Amino acid sequence: MSGLTGKVALVTGASRGIGRAAAERLAARGAVVAVHYGSNAAAADEVVRGIRDAGGRAFALGAQLGTPGDIDALWSAFDAGVGEHSSRTCVDILVNNAGVTLRGHLEETTEELFDQQVAVNMRAPFFLVQHGLKRMPDGGRIINISSGVTRIAYPEIISYAMTKGAIDTFTLTLAKQLGARGITVNAVAPGIIDTDINASWLRGNPEAEQMAAGLSALGRVGRVTDVADVIAFLASDDARWVTGQVIDATGGSHL
Ligand code: NAP
Repeated sequence: MSGLTGKVALVTGASRGIGRAAAERLAARGAVVAVHYGSNAAAADEVVRGIRDAGGRAFALGAQLGTPGDIDALWSAFDAGVGEHSSRTCVDILVNNAGVTLRGHLEETTEELFDQQVAVNMRAPFFLVQHGLKRMPDGGRIINISSGVTRIAYPEIISYAMTKGAIDTFTLTLAKQLGARGITVNAVAPGIIDTDINASWLRGNPEAEQMAAGLSALGRVGRVTDVADVIAFLASDDARWVTGQVIDATGGSHL
């Protein structure tokens, strides 16, 4: 796969889980990576340390998405940090990964829970792109993290699934607009991945793990690196002719 040396990437929600793995992959391919976190500065610092120890370049930036002023806070922190680590002060690759899964059937979903998911999973990526585009050169990459639940019905997370459906539509529509600038816009839709989002029901529960593994044609639960490698491909020049797509990374779940 072609390298990313000289490119600058911003990965939201990179202090843990899929975002962390994506930040590590992009840095390993040569990109300078802005490691965004919401509340866990120590975890983000650890990710940055790990990348630097491996010979890469990265810096951390914090902004709690879904709060007033979140988008300005994030881009201000990016602008303040990027010049110290890169001679180019733009963003070539934006990975909209930060997200929350607040569980609840239709009847259990409060307006507060609904609004919180919309704010983090849907509103934040929209306005991060709107405010970030002036920092993105032609030929840039936008990669949004969707979910297999836009294809597979899970009534117990209905409002979460709706936010990811919106991400798919955002991806398709934005790709049409930004194609003229050579910017590709794609989404990655993971299945069940072993991260903190699923810790409460998956970790330490062999029955749940067996059930989750059985959903995939490949017979196991997904790992963060399974998704990070797809993100790294979409970020690379090898994916220059792919845009407006939702790439299924569910390990063939529910085929
Ligand atoms: P995770 O391990 O729970 O990590 C979530 C990341 O998002 C953390 O870095 C967290 O930062 C950040 N974040 C959460 N809320 C935030 C907020 N309000 N403001 C700023 N940052 C916030 O999650 P994950 O499983 O890796 O999921 C990453 C993405 O993949 C999400 O969009 C998720 O919907 C999607 N996805 C996950 C799965 C799965 O099975 N895991 C499946 C399909 C799709 P702090 O800890 O610093 O606050």
